[in-house]
Amino acid sequence: TLPALKNPDLLVEACLIGGEWSVSGSGRIDVTNPATGAVIARVPSAGAEETKRAIAAAHAAYPAWRAKTANERAVLLRRLAAVITENQEDLAQILTAEQGKSLAESRGEVGMSAAYVLWFAEEARRVYGETVPSPWADRKILVTKEPVGVVAAITPWNFPSSMIARKLAPALAAGCPIVIKPASQTPLSGLAWGKLCQMAGIPDGLVSILTGPARAIGGELTGNPLVKKVTFTGSTEVGKVLLQQAAGTVKKVSMELGGNAPFIVFDDADLDRAVAGAMLAKFRNSGQTCICTNRFLVQDGIYDAFAERMAEAANRLKVGDGTQNGVAQGPLIDMAAVEKTEEHIRDAVAKGGRVIAGGHRHTLGGQFFEPTVLVNATPAMNVAREETFGPLAPLFRFRDEAEAIRMANDTEYGLACYFYTRDLGQAFRVSEALEYGMVGVNEGIITTEVAPFGGVKESGLGREGGRLGIDDYLEVKYICLGGL
Ligand code: ADP
Repeated sequence: TLPALKNPDLLVEACLIGGEWSVSGSGRIDVTNPATGAVIARVPSAGAEETKRAIAAAHAAYPAWRAKTANERAVLLRRLAAVITENQEDLAQILTAEQGKSLAESRGEVGMSAAYVLWFAEEARRVYGETVPSPWADRKILVTKEPVGVVAAITPWNFPSSMIARKLAPALAAGCPIVIKPASQTPLSGLAWGKLCQMAGIPDGLVSILTGPARAIGGELTGNPLVKKVTFTGSTEVGKVLLQQAAGTVKKVSMELGGNAPFIVFDDADLDRAVAGAMLAKFRNSGQTCICTNRFLVQDGIYDAFAERMAEAANRLKVGDGTQNGVAQGPLIDMAAVEKTEEHIRDAVAKGGRVIAGGHRHTLGGQFFEPTVLVNATPAMNVAREETFGPLAPLFRFRDEAEAIRMANDTEYGLACYFYTRDLGQAFRVSEALEYGMVGVNEGIITTEVAPFGGVKESGLGREGGRLGIDDYLEVKYICLGGL
């Protein structure tokens, strides 16, 4: 059950479709608290019909919204950021109740949501075009940027608030309406965005939020010709399906997909700093983020010391219900996540790995798992190729820089990577050699609204946040002005 909220209106069990709260659809979806297994809410199971209505409402609201000045849109977005901040505690409680992460992490995530909205309120006013020196004496060349049109967003359960912020804020800032489908495990944080937008005075129809079966809603979002852009955060597998579906009407796409993040520790690294960064880069959200370290690559000379310190630190992490004081590790999202973590450990141990911390389901039972550190990891293990998305830190060994780079890049993914060194030359060489969209040098947490977040290779297309984040919601128009 949920703690008493200061503003109980933020907990909604209805979809927002074109400014109306609706329970239409076929039945309801139970929302469970992963820490207790208790059902905390029931949300609608909307389908293609409801999605069509939301898209039509977005299309109808679009002309008036794009005609507003950038400043008018910025004023509303700033108000939205303020409303989020005012309700941060309630939103964090809802987030922990449906997702499981610690309250401290939930407060941080809601803070990031407000930060993204504020950032894009500012960027709304900086959508510059350009004039180009003309090759013709009697013509001018202008390049302008326009909103792409109706946006569809599909978001995951691991950051149920901030993944919406990264899409909703630039879309609205650019002048686009947006239809959002949050993950079915964590719909409440998504639906709360509807209330927040209403409280901020965002006009009806610009933001619709639909909960329900992914295939039905996703099929309509990617197939409907009124939708001009699909933005998705989730697995590479589902991203590929959405890319194929969006191809039918040649929609613009942004894809934030899976990762297989390496975390390299060179011999001369600052050990204290590396261990602190490693713990954050691995165990935040119990290992369930797309930029969480999946593979630790540790140089021979520092391997044993690093392993010992990691085991100590993992054993110190308090596991439990995220609402309790001092808890650092909440439950995993579902039993499938527990089983996958277990399977990666079993496979690694069968191939010569040795567990030096954790390794099992937690004695609390349910979806709780022990923070785990494993040594003697090798490329033959499943964990070398697949994202665990759980609290397992496997330590691979390497001899020199060239081998570390080869191992780090030996994956089809290219989202985030991290490395620790005190050698400035190495810092530059390795940063450039790593085939990743984001590199943390001597830092384990690098996400910020002011920098471009995104991946290369099969980790995605496009960037979210930073100065480039709004471009994904804009089209370029070239105007040739002749007869001058
Ligand atoms: P995760 O591993 O994070 O659950 P998924 O890619 O399975 O990642 O899910 C991310 C989001 O994509 C969720 O909102 C989910 O409901 C949605 N989704 C899953 N399958 C499909 C699909 N076939 N079409 C559209 N959306 C989908």
